[in-house]
Amino acid sequence: MPDLDPALAPVLPRTAEVTPEGHLALGGCDAVDLAKEFGTPLYVFDEEELRATCRAYREAFASRYEQSAVVYAAKAYLGRWLAALVAEEGLGMDVVSGGELAVARSAGFPLERVLFHGSNKSAQELREAVDAGIGRIVIDNFHELGLLDDVAGGLGKRQPVLVRVSPNVDPHTHVKTTTGVLDTKFGFAIEGGQAEEAVVQALARSNLELLGLHCHLGSPIFELDPYRQANDVMIAFAARMGERHGLELREYSPGGGFAVQVLRGEPAPSPGDYAEAVVDSLRAALAREGLGEPSLTVEPGRAIVARAGVALYTVGARKELPGVRTYVSVDGGMADNIRPPMYDSQYAGIVANKPLDERRETITVAGKYCESGDILLKDADLPPLEPGDILALPASGAYNLPMASNYNAGLRPPVVLVRDGEAKLMRHRETYEDLTRADVWPLE
Ligand SMILES: *Cc1c(COP(=O)(O)O)cnc(C)c1O
Repeated sequence: MPDLDPALAPVLPRTAEVTPEGHLALGGCDAVDLAKEFGTPLYVFDEEELRATCRAYREAFASRYEQSAVVYAAKAYLGRWLAALVAEEGLGMDVVSGGELAVARSAGFPLERVLFHGSNKSAQELREAVDAGIGRIVIDNFHELGLLDDVAGGLGKRQPVLVRVSPNVDPHTHVKTTTGVLDTKFGFAIEGGQAEEAVVQALARSNLELLGLHCHLGSPIFELDPYRQANDVMIAFAARMGERHGLELREYSPGGGFAVQVLRGEPAPSPGDYAEAVVDSLRAALAREGLGEPSLTVEPGRAIVARAGVALYTVGARKELPGVRTYVSVDGGMADNIRPPMYDSQYAGIVANKPLDERRETITVAGKYCESGDILLKDADLPPLEPGDILALPASGAYNLPMASNYNAGLRPPVVLVRDGEAKLMRHRETYEDLTRADVWPLE
């Protein structure tokens, strides 16, 4: 049996292989059988890939910087099984809402390892977080600073916090996922003195314990230099705050945003590459500024889950416009994956029932939703697609399902976990009953 195109190996889970019948297999499970058993669209997560990636990140940082923590940014994908796995692998968790915190709590996630981010946390969310004993709250703005001080005081607690700074470093990624430049809604800008004012205020508030600084540049960041630049800016800022206001930098985070390979021939840096760039530049900046080593927290989201997840769709209608374009439609689209219309995201498609087929045509893969922009793959190079073929889109584990909607009253897809030839349902397909669950009728 010939092997899969080696250029696809880095975008698929490491367990991907071709079965003797010539089908794509993930975690020892034939993807065509999975599609039959669970229906499509279907999201498949590979446990071995998830665990190996968690370990690779932990190891990459811990081996270079003893006082380091890897914190999974749960907004990339959150389910209770995944939360439990992340905890078991020794990672912490970033949450950005009361809802994410509630899911993490319901999975028994150790709350001292949880960080709370977000640009407009409500009093209720802050109360829930402080009350639950959350590890860190990352203060984003002056409104939140006062609110959190009041909330913590009301609960009789002193809350450990970090201040989120925007270092004005451009990570050269999509404008919609750029967060650390001057013109962003996130964090306190250094230029103009707001970040300094935030440090002064946080130090003065009796119910806040300011432990350090945080920044997050955006994502995905395929370059290493933005992290080096951010460390330089942030550590220089920390040193100034130490001299002027007595800030002691005990904790520091340059955020997440580590990229994963999604397309053939467009590799991303490895966890080791990121760790080396972050740690070396951090140490150099600390030495230059004469500061001791703070503990280091990094926050990969997509880098932990993207490659472990593969979306499966069934091919349906075909529309040929000679000399213009050929459209092939699948049974999912923008309601389970808004990333192509939102971020111009691209994917490397694989036909799961004929992954070795070398015939090629240029096909645009459309979703089933009532929007012209519902296109999953534009002018993709794929074998001729026929109704019933199973199209796999690798690197679909991050930011697909958390952004999924019920547009056109579509049913959000199920998620299965594969490992050693066994498939377990992690989330069932929504049903028509789910569509009316929150709807009130008749009105009272
Ligand atoms: C979203 C986010 C992350 C994770 O980004 P990824 O690209 O998924 O790694 C990390 N930190 C913060 C503060 C975030 O908002």
